[in-house]
Amino acid sequence: MGKVIALFDYKNHWRKSNVNLIKVSLVALAIATTAWSAAATAQEKGTVGISMPTKASARWIADGDNMVKVFKEKGYKPDLQYAEDDIPNQLAQIENMITTGAKVLVIAAIDGTTLSGALQKAADKGIKVIAYDRLIRGSKNVDYYTTFDNFQVGVLQATSIVNKLGLKEGKGPFNIELFGGSPDDNNAFFFYDGAMSVFKPYLDSGKLVVRSKQLGMTKVGTLRWDGAVAQARMDNLLSAYYGKEKVHAVLSPYDGLSIGILSSLKGVGYCTAKQPCPVVSGQDAEVPSVKSILRGEQFSTVFKDTRDLARVTANLVDAVLAGKQPEINDTKTYNNGVKVIPSYLLKPVAVDASNWRKILIESGYYKESQIK
Ligand code: BGC
Repeated sequence: MGKVIALFDYKNHWRKSNVNLIKVSLVALAIATTAWSAAATAQEKGTVGISMPTKASARWIADGDNMVKVFKEKGYKPDLQYAEDDIPNQLAQIENMITTGAKVLVIAAIDGTTLSGALQKAADKGIKVIAYDRLIRGSKNVDYYTTFDNFQVGVLQATSIVNKLGLKEGKGPFNIELFGGSPDDNNAFFFYDGAMSVFKPYLDSGKLVVRSKQLGMTKVGTLRWDGAVAQARMDNLLSAYYGKEKVHAVLSPYDGLSIGILSSLKGVGYCTAKQPCPVVSGQDAEVPSVKSILRGEQFSTVFKDTRDLARVTANLVDAVLAGKQPEINDTKTYNNGVKVIPSYLLKPVAVDASNWRKILIESGYYKESQIK
């Protein structure tokens, strides 16, 4: 009897082992099949041409990296190109994407008005075009626009200055100088207009004074968002209008400009115990600016999570290529001179020394070691 049980147990064990073996093999097969089909999908879904303006600013590097990641996850083959802020270079890269068979183009334009010819070629081949972060102007061949609420970016920049100066509590008058972004970038106008919507009552009441009287994008724009250009203009403003008087705030629309502006200010004795930095805004939460904020130099920046913009853009592309209606949340704001482009707008977030850790570190955007 004992022997019989032993034999039975043995058989049962043998059977169980084989069942387990079969299960393991099936799992292995499933894994192999999934890997194979993921690779096959990557071929199947086609190439996405991603044209970015420059590697000179960390934000565009993050945009490119994030898009490559999400497009790969969705089974596309990303073709990422940077044009180093050279318009003919960007055009050549886009034309090359068109001839090499991209199914869709995702473009952050250097100059939003210079791409019409290339986009016509894209349209003729049925290639969809997504304006990424910056609106492409003057062409009917722009299908969608993914970006942040650009007017709100300016509102946040100006509000951080107004709050820090204590204007709402009736303090002032204060001297302020204004900087705008690149006049060939549609966003620059939205940032400026958003900021001016906040400053206007204080400018009207004389609580904010622009001693240079340089107002309006034609006077305050900074071609190609170039920090050196902003630095040179700040040098001129300081020597022409701030002999005895002090400047108390500077509207800067982008961190790269803020760093140039602060260099200029430091050059004439600001940012010391005796003469603190004026309140300087920024945008993009780039590492040198976050460090500057923690040193008490730049006052604030505006964070735009490029991970979210990449995700929204990839979802949109996926829907469009599947012939579905993509998710959009704005159909009024962005007229490119030919038509209103259906858009998806994300929310920008104001960052200063009080919330940088929560917004930038706890969200996983930066590691603390990158900042400190
Ligand atoms: C972007 C900003 C950026 C600026 C300079 C704008 O179009 O929206 O995030 O600071 O370009 O690169």
